[in-house]
Amino acid sequence: MTHAASDPRIVTLGEIIMDMFPQEIGKSFAEVTAFLPKPGGAPANVAVAAARLGTATAYIGKVGEDAFGHVLVDVLRSQNVETRGIAFDPDVRTTMVFITMPDEHTQEFVFYRNPGADLQLRTDELDASLFANARAFHFGSLSLVEEPARSATYAAIEMAKKAGALVSFDVNYRPTLWASPQEAQAEIRRILPLADLLKVNEVEIALLGGSGDLESACRTLLAQGPGLIVVTLGAEGSFFCTNQVSGAVAPFRVNTVDATGCGDAFIAGLLTRLTASDDWHELLTAETLRKALTFGNAVGALTALTRGVIPALPSKEQVHNFLQQQGVDW
Ligand code: ADP
Repeated sequence: MTHAASDPRIVTLGEIIMDMFPQEIGKSFAEVTAFLPKPGGAPANVAVAAARLGTATAYIGKVGEDAFGHVLVDVLRSQNVETRGIAFDPDVRTTMVFITMPDEHTQEFVFYRNPGADLQLRTDELDASLFANARAFHFGSLSLVEEPARSATYAAIEMAKKAGALVSFDVNYRPTLWASPQEAQAEIRRILPLADLLKVNEVEIALLGGSGDLESACRTLLAQGPGLIVVTLGAEGSFFCTNQVSGAVAPFRVNTVDATGCGDAFIAGLLTRLTASDDWHELLTAETLRKALTFGNAVGALTALTRGVIPALPSKEQVHNFLQQQGVDW
């Protein structure tokens, strides 16, 4: 079978959301004077971030048949993300989340779902052709919270595996979305044997790996399935661990304006590197992983320079120029 050159190399699935950002940082929900709508949802952000980096990318999800839904799909399309896998649902609203930021590193969320369109994605709405040439499939835990999106996520994982794609899971734990922490942990753990790449932050690795020590928490999780674990450490950089190699990768020092979306930018950078080769298994050496995480760190750091997510995401040229300025041998 032959495939068009534009067939997506990275496919993401999950929530697409109108993020309502606070007008002011440092205020509570009672104090904020206005909220500003910005396109968001981690898997949608990852798709845009990867497309900016020059990788053919598709996003799969669901929006309401309403104005916000059309705005979100138009934004993705304008960013060169393949949008034919997005379904419109006339019966539910496009999901929104209201955000406050007690400081520029911390966010509090109120999700408007119950139900939101993102969780209504059904298995029969998946377009299998999107996976024909896919080298990576990326998703998070938000589409696992409820049916029918949970089953659709599992079906998409199966399609990705059939295509030989790397399955990438960002835990992205949002406690308030789940009925209980126990249910969240159980659902997240059910994914581990299916994931090739597990992306966690410091809080998530401690919670799932049962240890504050990165290396030993990673070892515990590696035993449950993933071949590669990557821990994002905010302004401290990132860490990788496989059964053979591990290492911390130093951050880039930048003037942080807004760290929102840095994790999505980072994983898009990492996946762009890991999908450069036909077989990602070949890339699991310490040297190649160090390079891939350095690239991810740069994409993340550049995203912290500008407010918002999509406006902040850098192009491939911007990342290469930045790496050169930083004296990184590329
Ligand atoms: P998340 O918690 O969403 O996974 P992080 O906030 O840890 O994501 O950011 C992902 C990556 O982006 C980090 O590993 C780091 O490389 C980079 N990054 C994030 N914030 C900063 C910052 N303030 N300065 C420099 N790099 C950053």
